[in-house]
Amino acid sequence: LNVSFEYYEREKPIPPEEYVRVNHLELKELVTDIYKALGVPDRDAEIVADVLVTADLFGISSHGVQRVRRYVEGIRIKNVNINAKVRVVRDFGTTALIDGDNGLGQPIGVKAMELAIEKAKIYGVSLVLVKNSNHFGIAGYYSLKAVEKGLIGITITNSENLVAYVNTVGRTLGTNPIAVAIPRPSPPPILFDAATSVVPVGKIEIYSKLGKKVPPGWVIDLEGNILSGDAKEVLKAIRSRKAALLPLGGLGEEFGGHKGSGLAFIIDTISGILSGAAWGYHVGHTIGTRPANVGHAFAAINIEAFMDKDVFFERIETYVKEIKSLKKHPKADRIWIPGEKAWLTMQTRLKIGIPLHKNVYNELIQIAREVGVTRELRIIKQQ
Ligand code: NDP
Repeated sequence: LNVSFEYYEREKPIPPEEYVRVNHLELKELVTDIYKALGVPDRDAEIVADVLVTADLFGISSHGVQRVRRYVEGIRIKNVNINAKVRVVRDFGTTALIDGDNGLGQPIGVKAMELAIEKAKIYGVSLVLVKNSNHFGIAGYYSLKAVEKGLIGITITNSENLVAYVNTVGRTLGTNPIAVAIPRPSPPPILFDAATSVVPVGKIEIYSKLGKKVPPGWVIDLEGNILSGDAKEVLKAIRSRKAALLPLGGLGEEFGGHKGSGLAFIIDTISGILSGAAWGYHVGHTIGTRPANVGHAFAAINIEAFMDKDVFFERIETYVKEIKSLKKHPKADRIWIPGEKAWLTMQTRLKIGIPLHKNVYNELIQIAREVGVTRELRIIKQQ
């Protein structure tokens, strides 16, 4: 793939100290086989693997193959329905409501975004809501499906409660991300994809696997004190409901904690309340004792409904150029457009492989053997 600006090898974040590099296709095949071995239909297994490996290609290791175990366990304990009958239960022309029948979130997400794209092609804009779904991984994956067809894609979802609502303690809100993808005349597309908490919990999971420390400002305990230090301990406190992530903006109102929790609340209202799914602390976990009933929303915008595509491209490229020409902060490495770092990381990793921490690699092989998959995962480089 050709990128429209100077290409250089770059990864975000830089790989962990002890890592192995694996080929993305071989990784995808292994992960697909793991889910197939559990009885997941071939196409669905491929989609789950593609979403996970795409996260690693983009440098979002928190939502990459380190999450394979989560869905494996959800399937094993039958809290996720691998034979879900996903169906449209309401259709109003520009809008639809899908019942995911407690299936895997990734294939449901793809189906819902494909419907949103078809509708936006006809009507200009669309909104497809989903109830009775499960965790679907990186929200940006689905928004990019719209970009592939030349449309703007918007994806939001609620998720298991992990975040403290502003001025409260304890886990109430999900990390409820929003992802907006916008086409450009040549790659990379614009992709803004972010949790509405300071960090997603997957980041603390990764820190815990790498033996790293959580910095002050991400987590509060039930007394309202900032919790930091050993990520394993912090993760344990969050999992046992003795601590919560902070919303985007952090503690209190001073730096905008009310805006992060406000955004998460609104995302929950559209994807959870309006869809008929669960909301707030009613949303379950993949490895839970009841269906998670996650809710999502997918929207697509047909640029041609508003202006000629050429005009749009000219305008967005002018805007990007204006941003790129701003006076850079002296300590910043470079001025970035959302999605650029992810795209460059993907280009790099398609070429030289995906770095996996040794613990993540070993866990993956262990899961494969547990479910009866004998396929090897070749190490192409070891550090
Ligand atoms: P990040 O904080 O890593 O990045 C957020 C966005 O900001 C990205 O689009 C990123 O682009 C952009 N960005 C980063 N640095 C800059 C910069 N200097 N200038 C301009 N733009 C920049 O994301 P999060 O950690 O919040 O989220 C990670 C993932 O977790 C997301 O994919 C999200 O969908 C997923 N998630 C999923 C949940 C679920 O329940 N399914 C819950 C919570 C999160 P780039 O990638 O190019 O750096």
